[in-house]
Amino acid sequence: MGEAVKNLYVHFPFCRGKCTYCALCSKAGVSRADRESYVNSLTRSISPIFPNGDGSRHSSPLSTIYFGGGSPALCDLRPLFKVLNPLIDKNTEFSVELHPLDVTEETLQVLKDGGVNRISMGLQSLNDDVLKHMRRGYTFDEAEKAFRLIKEYFENSGVDLIIGYPGDSWGQSPRLQRLSDWGLKHCSAYSLILEENSALFKLAQTGTVPPPQMGTVPLKLYSDEEIMDELSFISHFLSEIGLKRYEISNYSAPGYECRHNMATWNGEDYYGLGIGAHGRIGLKRTRNWWGQSPEIKPSLIFPQWGQSPEVETVSEEFDFKERKIFSLRTARGLDAGDCPHWIERLDRFAEEGLLEKENLVYRLTERGFEVCDSILAELI
Ligand code: SF4
Repeated sequence: MGEAVKNLYVHFPFCRGKCTYCALCSKAGVSRADRESYVNSLTRSISPIFPNGDGSRHSSPLSTIYFGGGSPALCDLRPLFKVLNPLIDKNTEFSVELHPLDVTEETLQVLKDGGVNRISMGLQSLNDDVLKHMRRGYTFDEAEKAFRLIKEYFENSGVDLIIGYPGDSWGQSPRLQRLSDWGLKHCSAYSLILEENSALFKLAQTGTVPPPQMGTVPLKLYSDEEIMDELSFISHFLSEIGLKRYEISNYSAPGYECRHNMATWNGEDYYGLGIGAHGRIGLKRTRNWWGQSPEIKPSLIFPQWGQSPEVETVSEEFDFKERKIFSLRTARGLDAGDCPHWIERLDRFAEEGLLEKENLVYRLTERGFEVCDSILAELI
């Protein structure tokens, strides 16, 4: 697998509690010993992937590293920072996702010392009842305090939001003004997807009355149109505070786009390490991968998870399509110069006002961003 891969994603599948809307690969209540064992396995996985990742400075540093989860800060990340140190330089973007309750001065200092320079905090909602119902475990005031502390250490910081959770209404939130003072450099705003494996799905489908500790959120799901309105509202709000949309769900101040995500959307290769991680290296697609070390297997660490490493080789045609189509998600757009057979269909979307065209580059319009999934589905 390729030496020239410049992007690395590492997944940490540990959480403080399981959020009601979440069907991601993550678990709450994993013991400290198992978390340590997981980090040890990651640490042993990294060096063999990179030819001289042996403590000497790597000749070709990584462009981006992203620690996602789950909650990476539930692990002691220092052994990983040590092994990654030869692979980073001043130009490496190193992002870590943080849960507000993991934010302490000590943690932030450890991240900074480890070379991290970008933080994404999972805020999700401004509404305390909704946060309680989601089982996030903090209030808006606590999240605000956590973010202000993050900003003392990391200028390049932003938040993740969920749009369309039952009982939430961004358009009517009295706390938007406070959010606008946080100095956000980035925001990801995802519409709620009712995942079958999530607790919310079960509550909504069965009409089960949630336990009192989950608060008093009405469990009426929003319609697609209502969610679309909320997304439009948020998009407008973010643009007013200087965050421009650069991808379907992502907004940033100028120059603060997430380079890691941009690399994957722009068709670059990336390693994905750990349980729940996906990677793309040439024609290889990896899942739950642990690098080249055959002795490291997640099934040995968490046999109960049953997540075996998978490496699949896709066809060149699939590879080309996948990389190309991803580019349409971004504000940079899709250059149809090398896929003339799509031009007729792309022109039709342009006539419908969903795409704008400049020479042979097609970009989503505001309306196009809203229905992007159906455009992508038609191209696939
Ligand atoms: S949303 Fe994040 S913190 Fe919550 S359970 Fe899922 S992975 Fe864990």
